[in-house]
Amino acid sequence: AKAAGRNTFAIFGNHMDELLRRRRKLEHDLRLALETRSQIEAFYQPVYSAEHKGLSSMEALARWKHPEEGLIAPDIFIPIAEEIGLIQEVGAIVLEDACGVMADLPSISMAINASALELCSDGYPLRVLSRLAKWNIDPKRLEIEITESLALGGEGHSDRNIAILRNAGVRIAIDDFGTGYSSFSRVQNLMIDRIKIDKSFIDAVQGESRPLIEAMINMARAKGLKTTAEGVETDEQSDALVALGCDSLQGFLISRPLARTAIIDLYNGSGKR
Ligand code: C2E
Ligand code: CA
Ligand code: CA
Ligand code: CA
Repeated sequence: AKAAGRNTFAIFGNHMDELLRRRRKLEHDLRLALETRSQIEAFYQPVYSAEHKGLSSMEALARWKHPEEGLIAPDIFIPIAEEIGLIQEVGAIVLEDACGVMADLPSISMAINASALELCSDGYPLRVLSRLAKWNIDPKRLEIEITESLALGGEGHSDRNIAILRNAGVRIAIDDFGTGYSSFSRVQNLMIDRIKIDKSFIDAVQGESRPLIEAMINMARAKGLKTTAEGVETDEQSDALVALGCDSLQGFLISRPLARTAIIDLYNGSGKR
Protein backbone atom coordinates (compact mmCIF):
# COMPACT_ATOMS: atom_id res chain seq x y z
CA ALA A 1 0.00 0.00 0.00
CA LYS A 2 2.91 2.27 0.79
CA ALA A 3 4.49 1.66 -2.58
CA ALA A 4 1.23 2.32 -4.34
CA GLY A 5 0.80 5.55 -2.36
CA ARG A 6 4.26 6.72 -3.29
CA ASN A 7 3.56 5.84 -6.89
CA THR A 8 0.36 7.85 -6.93
CA PHE A 9 2.17 10.77 -5.42
CA ALA A 10 4.91 10.56 -8.01
CA ILE A 11 2.35 10.56 -10.80
CA PHE A 12 0.49 13.45 -9.21
CA GLY A 13 3.78 15.33 -8.82
CA ASN A 14 4.68 14.79 -12.45
CA HIS A 15 1.28 16.00 -13.48
CA MET A 16 1.67 19.20 -11.45
CA ASP A 17 5.08 19.78 -13.00
CA GLU A 18 3.60 19.32 -16.42
CA LEU A 19 0.74 21.75 -15.73
CA LEU A 20 3.14 24.31 -14.33
CA ARG A 21 5.45 23.98 -17.31
CA ARG A 22 2.58 24.42 -19.72
CA ARG A 23 1.31 27.43 -17.79
CA ARG A 24 4.76 29.08 -17.82
CA LYS A 25 5.06 28.49 -21.55
CA LEU A 26 1.65 30.02 -22.20
CA GLU A 27 2.60 33.07 -20.10
CA HIS A 28 5.85 33.42 -22.01
CA ASP A 29 4.15 33.00 -25.39
CA LEU A 30 1.40 35.47 -24.46
CA ARG A 31 3.94 38.13 -23.47
CA LEU A 32 5.63 37.67 -26.82
CA ALA A 33 2.34 37.77 -28.74
CA LEU A 34 1.35 41.01 -27.00
CA GLU A 35 4.78 42.62 -27.40
CA THR A 36 4.76 42.00 -31.12
CA ARG A 37 1.01 42.70 -31.40
CA SER A 38 0.73 39.53 -33.43
CA GLN A 39 -1.44 36.44 -32.91
CA ILE A 40 -4.12 38.22 -30.87
CA GLU A 41 -7.11 39.37 -32.88
CA ALA A 42 -10.84 39.90 -32.55
CA PHE A 43 -13.71 37.86 -33.92
CA TYR A 44 -17.16 39.40 -34.19
CA GLN A 45 -20.49 37.87 -33.30
CA PRO A 46 -23.58 39.42 -34.94
CA VAL A 47 -26.43 40.63 -32.74
CA TYR A 48 -29.98 40.52 -34.10
CA SER A 49 -32.34 43.36 -33.24
CA ALA A 50 -35.92 42.16 -32.76
CA GLU A 51 -37.17 45.73 -33.20
CA HIS A 52 -35.38 46.35 -36.50
CA LYS A 53 -35.68 42.72 -37.60
CA GLY A 54 -32.08 42.71 -38.68
CA LEU A 55 -28.45 42.79 -37.69
CA SER A 56 -27.58 46.11 -36.09
CA SER A 57 -24.68 45.44 -33.77
CA MET A 58 -21.98 42.93 -32.91
CA GLU A 59 -19.71 41.85 -30.09
CA ALA A 60 -15.93 41.75 -30.41
CA LEU A 61 -14.41 38.60 -28.87
CA ALA A 62 -10.68 38.14 -28.41
CA ARG A 63 -8.92 35.22 -30.09
CA TRP A 64 -5.37 33.94 -29.72
CA LYS A 65 -3.96 32.20 -32.78
CA HIS A 66 -1.04 30.36 -31.24
CA PRO A 67 1.56 29.34 -33.83
CA GLU A 68 1.89 25.77 -32.46
CA GLU A 69 -1.24 25.16 -30.43
CA GLY A 70 -3.81 26.68 -32.76
CA LEU A 71 -6.72 28.73 -31.47
CA ILE A 72 -6.66 29.30 -27.70
CA ALA A 73 -9.99 30.33 -26.15
CA PRO A 74 -10.35 33.60 -24.22
CA ASP A 75 -11.56 31.65 -21.18
CA ILE A 76 -7.98 30.31 -21.04
CA PHE A 77 -5.85 33.32 -21.94
CA ILE A 78 -7.84 36.26 -20.52
CA PRO A 79 -7.27 35.06 -16.91
CA ILE A 80 -3.56 34.59 -17.69
CA ALA A 81 -3.33 38.10 -19.18
CA GLU A 82 -4.99 39.45 -16.04
CA GLU A 83 -2.60 37.60 -13.78
CA ILE A 84 0.55 38.76 -15.54
CA GLY A 85 -0.69 42.34 -15.76
CA LEU A 86 -1.21 42.45 -19.54
CA ILE A 87 -5.01 42.53 -19.85
CA GLN A 88 -4.82 46.19 -20.83
CA GLU A 89 -2.80 45.19 -23.89
CA VAL A 90 -5.38 42.60 -24.92
CA GLY A 91 -8.16 45.17 -24.48
CA ALA A 92 -6.25 47.72 -26.53
CA ILE A 93 -5.74 45.32 -29.45
CA VAL A 94 -9.43 44.35 -29.49
CA LEU A 95 -10.60 47.98 -29.24
CA GLU A 96 -8.29 49.11 -32.03
CA ASP A 97 -9.50 46.31 -34.31
CA ALA A 98 -13.13 47.01 -33.38
CA CYS A 99 -12.67 50.69 -34.24
CA GLY A 100 -11.47 49.63 -37.68
CA VAL A 101 -14.61 47.55 -38.20
CA MET A 102 -16.81 50.43 -36.99
CA ALA A 103 -15.08 52.73 -39.46
CA ASP A 104 -15.82 50.23 -42.25
CA LEU A 105 -19.46 49.77 -41.20
CA PRO A 106 -20.73 53.25 -40.31
CA SER A 107 -24.25 52.23 -39.24
CA ILE A 108 -23.46 49.44 -36.78
CA SER A 109 -22.74 49.62 -33.10
CA MET A 110 -20.13 47.55 -31.33
CA ALA A 111 -19.79 45.87 -27.97
CA ILE A 112 -16.45 45.08 -26.31
CA ASN A 113 -15.73 43.22 -23.09
CA ALA A 114 -13.88 44.92 -20.25
CA SER A 115 -12.09 42.98 -17.57
CA ALA A 116 -12.63 44.09 -13.97
CA LEU A 117 -8.98 45.07 -13.79
CA GLU A 118 -9.28 47.30 -16.83
CA LEU A 119 -12.45 49.03 -15.75
CA CYS A 120 -11.07 49.76 -12.29
CA SER A 121 -7.84 51.21 -13.61
CA ASP A 122 -7.38 54.95 -13.52
CA GLY A 123 -6.76 55.76 -17.17
CA TYR A 124 -9.29 53.37 -18.72
CA PRO A 125 -12.03 55.82 -19.78
CA LEU A 126 -9.54 58.21 -21.31
CA ARG A 127 -7.80 55.42 -23.20
CA VAL A 128 -11.11 54.27 -24.69
CA LEU A 129 -12.34 57.77 -25.54
CA SER A 130 -9.07 58.79 -27.16
CA ARG A 131 -9.11 55.67 -29.36
CA LEU A 132 -12.64 56.54 -30.50
CA ALA A 133 -11.61 60.14 -31.12
CA LYS A 134 -8.60 59.04 -33.16
CA TRP A 135 -10.90 56.97 -35.38
CA ASN A 136 -13.50 59.73 -35.42
CA ILE A 137 -16.16 57.36 -34.07
CA ASP A 138 -19.19 58.55 -32.11
CA PRO A 139 -18.92 57.14 -28.55
CA LYS A 140 -22.66 56.34 -28.74
CA ARG A 141 -21.79 53.48 -31.07
CA LEU A 142 -19.72 51.72 -28.43
CA GLU A 143 -21.06 49.54 -25.62
CA ILE A 144 -18.82 48.12 -22.91
CA GLU A 145 -19.81 44.81 -21.32
CA ILE A 146 -18.86 44.31 -17.71
CA THR A 147 -19.63 41.48 -15.32
CA GLU A 148 -22.22 41.86 -12.64
CA SER A 149 -19.89 41.18 -9.74
CA LEU A 150 -17.67 44.01 -10.87
CA ALA A 151 -20.45 46.46 -11.52
CA LEU A 152 -21.96 45.82 -8.14
CA GLY A 153 -18.71 45.59 -6.22
CA GLY A 154 -17.78 49.24 -6.45
CA GLU A 155 -14.10 48.29 -6.41
CA GLY A 156 -11.46 50.83 -7.25
CA HIS A 157 -12.46 53.50 -9.72
CA SER A 158 -15.12 51.47 -11.50
CA ASP A 159 -18.06 53.71 -10.52
CA ARG A 160 -16.24 56.87 -11.51
CA ASN A 161 -14.93 55.30 -14.70
CA ILE A 162 -18.42 54.16 -15.70
CA ALA A 163 -19.71 57.70 -15.07
CA ILE A 164 -17.00 59.24 -17.25
CA LEU A 165 -17.69 56.83 -20.10
CA ARG A 166 -21.46 57.25 -19.91
CA ASN A 167 -21.20 61.02 -19.81
CA ALA A 168 -19.26 60.78 -23.07
CA GLY A 169 -22.06 58.67 -24.61
CA VAL A 170 -20.58 55.18 -24.28
CA ARG A 171 -23.17 52.64 -23.15
CA ILE A 172 -22.65 50.04 -20.43
CA ALA A 173 -24.06 46.51 -20.40
CA ILE A 174 -24.09 43.93 -17.63
CA ASP A 175 -22.73 40.68 -19.05
CA ASP A 176 -23.89 37.19 -17.98
CA PHE A 177 -26.82 38.76 -16.15
CA GLY A 178 -28.44 36.51 -13.57
CA THR A 179 -25.29 34.62 -12.63
CA GLY A 180 -23.04 35.34 -9.69
CA TYR A 181 -24.01 38.38 -7.71
CA SER A 182 -27.33 38.97 -9.35
CA SER A 183 -29.78 41.05 -7.43
CA PHE A 184 -32.65 42.89 -9.00
CA SER A 185 -32.79 45.55 -6.33
CA ARG A 186 -29.12 46.40 -6.67
CA VAL A 187 -29.19 46.51 -10.46
CA GLN A 188 -31.85 49.18 -10.25
CA ASN A 189 -29.34 51.65 -8.86
CA LEU A 190 -26.66 50.94 -11.42
CA MET A 191 -25.63 53.35 -14.13
CA ILE A 192 -26.22 50.89 -16.94
CA ASP A 193 -28.02 50.72 -20.27
CA ARG A 194 -28.49 47.02 -20.96
CA ILE A 195 -28.54 43.58 -19.40
CA LYS A 196 -27.34 40.52 -21.28
CA ILE A 197 -29.27 37.54 -19.98
CA ASP A 198 -26.90 34.63 -19.45
CA LYS A 199 -27.02 31.59 -21.71
CA SER A 200 -27.78 29.30 -18.76
CA PHE A 201 -31.26 30.90 -18.56
CA ILE A 202 -31.80 31.00 -22.31
CA ASP A 203 -31.14 27.24 -22.53
CA ALA A 204 -34.35 26.67 -20.52
CA VAL A 205 -36.46 29.55 -21.83
CA GLN A 206 -39.21 27.14 -22.87
CA GLY A 207 -39.20 25.54 -19.41
CA GLU A 208 -38.17 26.44 -15.90
CA SER A 209 -36.39 29.71 -16.78
CA ARG A 210 -39.31 31.27 -18.59
CA PRO A 211 -40.82 33.13 -15.60
CA LEU A 212 -37.37 34.30 -14.52
CA ILE A 213 -36.54 35.65 -17.97
CA GLU A 214 -39.93 37.31 -18.12
CA ALA A 215 -39.22 39.00 -14.79
CA MET A 216 -35.79 40.15 -15.97
CA ILE A 217 -37.22 41.64 -19.16
CA ASN A 218 -40.05 43.37 -17.30
CA MET A 219 -37.67 44.75 -14.71
CA ALA A 220 -35.36 46.01 -17.47
CA ARG A 221 -38.29 47.62 -19.31
CA ALA A 222 -39.47 49.38 -16.15
CA LYS A 223 -35.96 50.79 -15.66
CA GLY A 224 -35.53 51.81 -19.29
CA LEU A 225 -32.84 49.19 -19.89
CA LYS A 226 -32.39 47.17 -23.08
CA THR A 227 -32.16 43.39 -23.02
CA THR A 228 -30.04 40.95 -25.01
CA ALA A 229 -30.39 37.17 -24.85
CA GLU A 230 -27.07 35.33 -24.99
CA GLY A 231 -26.46 31.92 -26.48
CA VAL A 232 -29.65 31.57 -28.52
CA GLU A 233 -29.32 28.28 -30.39
CA THR A 234 -32.79 27.28 -31.61
CA ASP A 235 -35.75 28.81 -33.44
CA GLU A 236 -37.98 27.84 -30.52
CA GLN A 237 -35.82 29.82 -28.08
CA SER A 238 -35.76 32.77 -30.46
CA ASP A 239 -39.56 32.78 -30.85
CA ALA A 240 -40.09 32.52 -27.08
CA LEU A 241 -37.68 35.40 -26.40
CA VAL A 242 -39.20 37.68 -29.00
CA ALA A 243 -42.65 36.91 -27.57
CA LEU A 244 -41.39 37.89 -24.11
CA GLY A 245 -40.21 41.23 -25.51
CA CYS A 246 -36.46 40.69 -25.56
CA ASP A 247 -34.79 43.49 -27.59
CA SER A 248 -31.82 41.65 -29.08
CA LEU A 249 -30.71 38.10 -29.71
CA GLN A 250 -27.21 36.69 -29.90
CA GLY A 251 -26.10 33.12 -30.39
CA PHE A 252 -25.14 30.38 -32.79
CA LEU A 253 -28.67 30.43 -34.29
CA ILE A 254 -27.93 33.88 -35.70
CA SER A 255 -24.22 33.31 -36.26
CA ARG A 256 -21.06 32.10 -34.62
CA PRO A 257 -18.34 34.71 -34.07
CA LEU A 258 -16.75 35.53 -37.44
CA ALA A 259 -13.36 36.78 -38.58
CA ARG A 260 -13.12 40.48 -39.43
CA THR A 261 -13.34 40.09 -43.20
CA ALA A 262 -16.32 37.72 -42.95
CA ILE A 263 -18.26 40.04 -40.65
CA ILE A 264 -17.66 43.04 -42.88
CA ASP A 265 -18.88 41.06 -45.91
CA LEU A 266 -21.94 39.86 -43.99
CA TYR A 267 -22.99 43.36 -42.85
CA ASN A 268 -22.30 44.95 -46.22
CA GLY A 269 -24.31 42.22 -47.93
CA SER A 270 -27.26 42.55 -45.57
CA GLY A 271 -28.00 46.06 -46.85
CA LYS A 272 -27.46 47.57 -43.43
CA ARG A 273 -24.77 49.94 -44.58
P1 C2E B 1 -18.97 36.36 -23.05
O1 C2E B 1 -18.65 37.81 -23.08
O2 C2E B 1 -20.13 35.93 -22.23
O3 C2E B 1 -19.11 35.93 -24.56
C1 C2E B 1 -20.02 34.97 -25.02
C2 C2E B 1 -19.34 33.65 -25.27
O4 C2E B 1 -20.32 32.69 -25.63
C3 C2E B 1 -18.35 33.68 -26.41
O5 C2E B 1 -17.31 32.75 -26.12
C4 C2E B 1 -19.20 33.18 -27.60
O6 C2E B 1 -18.44 32.62 -28.64
C5 C2E B 1 -20.05 32.16 -26.91
N1 C2E B 1 -21.32 31.96 -27.58
C6 C2E B 1 -22.04 32.87 -28.28
N2 C2E B 1 -23.20 32.34 -28.73
C7 C2E B 1 -23.22 31.05 -28.31
C8 C2E B 1 -24.17 29.98 -28.47
O7 C2E B 1 -25.21 30.10 -29.08
N3 C2E B 1 -23.84 28.79 -27.88
C9 C2E B 1 -22.67 28.62 -27.19
N4 C2E B 1 -22.45 27.42 -26.66
N5 C2E B 1 -21.76 29.62 -27.01
C10 C2E B 1 -22.03 30.82 -27.57
P2 C2E B 1 -15.78 33.16 -26.27
O8 C2E B 1 -15.57 33.99 -27.50
O9 C2E B 1 -15.00 31.90 -26.12
O10 C2E B 1 -15.52 34.11 -25.04
C11 C2E B 1 -15.54 33.64 -23.71
C12 C2E B 1 -15.44 34.75 -22.73
O11 C2E B 1 -14.14 35.36 -22.75
C13 C2E B 1 -16.41 35.90 -22.99
O12 C2E B 1 -17.68 35.53 -22.50
C14 C2E B 1 -15.76 37.02 -22.23
O13 C2E B 1 -16.10 36.95 -20.85
C15 C2E B 1 -14.28 36.71 -22.38
N6 C2E B 1 -13.71 37.59 -23.43
C16 C2E B 1 -13.74 37.43 -24.77
N7 C2E B 1 -13.11 38.45 -25.40
C17 C2E B 1 -12.68 39.29 -24.42
C18 C2E B 1 -11.97 40.54 -24.42
O14 C2E B 1 -11.60 41.12 -25.46
N8 C2E B 1 -11.69 41.10 -23.20
C19 C2E B 1 -12.09 40.50 -22.02
N9 C2E B 1 -11.78 41.12 -20.86
N10 C2E B 1 -12.77 39.34 -22.00
C20 C2E B 1 -13.07 38.73 -23.18
CA1 CA C 1 -19.66 39.64 -23.43
CA1 CA D 1 -21.92 36.86 -21.63
CA1 CA E 1 -19.42 34.73 -20.14
